[in-house]
Amino acid sequence: LAKIKPHPRWASFSPDMEANTRWRHEIIRQLRTAFQANLLQVWYQPQVHLQTNEVSGVEALLRWPGEVGFIQSPSVFIPLAEYSGLIVEMGDWVLDEACRAYQELQHLPNAPKRVAVNISMPQFRTGTLSKSVNQSLLKYKLAPNVLELEITESIAMDEPEIVRSCLSALRTIGVDISIDDFGTGYSSLGQLHALPIDSLKIDKSFVDDIDEEKSGLYVELIIGLAQRLGLSTVAEGVETKTQAHRLKELGCTIAQGYYYAKPMPLHELKRWLEARANAI
Ligand code: C2E
Ligand code: MG
Ligand code: MG
Ligand code: MG
Repeated sequence: LAKIKPHPRWASFSPDMEANTRWRHEIIRQLRTAFQANLLQVWYQPQVHLQTNEVSGVEALLRWPGEVGFIQSPSVFIPLAEYSGLIVEMGDWVLDEACRAYQELQHLPNAPKRVAVNISMPQFRTGTLSKSVNQSLLKYKLAPNVLELEITESIAMDEPEIVRSCLSALRTIGVDISIDDFGTGYSSLGQLHALPIDSLKIDKSFVDDIDEEKSGLYVELIIGLAQRLGLSTVAEGVETKTQAHRLKELGCTIAQGYYYAKPMPLHELKRWLEARANAI
């Protein structure tokens, strides 16, 4: 429970802890019902290679349509799904859904090379994550290297033994691993070195202020570190042309953000890819 960051608005919802707990359980109940009724969706956000301008991949992001207000935000309902354990089942579903979507995308002109899926700590603890990954890859006849799993820097460092052995198993299968929100956690270089990873995702907060001396320096350092370790870099939350230019200049590999496209349902993504293929 301590790991759940209270949303700023939870506090104003009720100052009473008990009411707050009841409220959380109510949201979890609603989320479970929505999941079982097959009402959740997976949306996709393009990732663009900065040198070639190709769509290198898409990130799968869970959506709870129909919900209103801040509950709709994955940053609010994902922590509740993690707390309740529901994320294990939901996460398997997202993984399978993303593989199914990729099977549809792979033959389009301008097809992305991979699909990235976010993974939470409880999914590592089950010990069956690599089995789920294998099952979905087999089901849709996908090569393992089309799948990339994103784990946040903080969970990667939380229970390093569990995470490391699980990542090694996944690496053996051949899926790529990236560290999400890099720069916001507390990795030591030694721990980072011990993880079998392929790329670092530079957190949006650094990209936001890339024009400021300090953030710019951090972005430069992260890219330099990644290059020295043989890892690629993905910048998150790129919203302006200026940011994209600066990132390219600094040698960042891939950019993702509203400047290119917002997350969208699969049918919209297909149209987006098509329009882009025609424009080139
Ligand atoms: P994340 O994995 O770091 O995903 C990036 C978030 O940044 C997404 O928010 C995306 O919509 C948003 N974003 C991308 N580009 C921009 C931009 O240019 N500007 C702004 N302001 N935002 C941008 P989203 O979809 O709300 O997801 C929030 C977080 O929830 C994700 O952060 C991830 O940690 C978690 N999440 C989402 N889907 C899943 C899932 O299927 N499984 C798990 N375990 N976590 C998920
Ligand atoms: Mg992510
Ligand atoms: Mg991220
Ligand atoms: Mg982030």
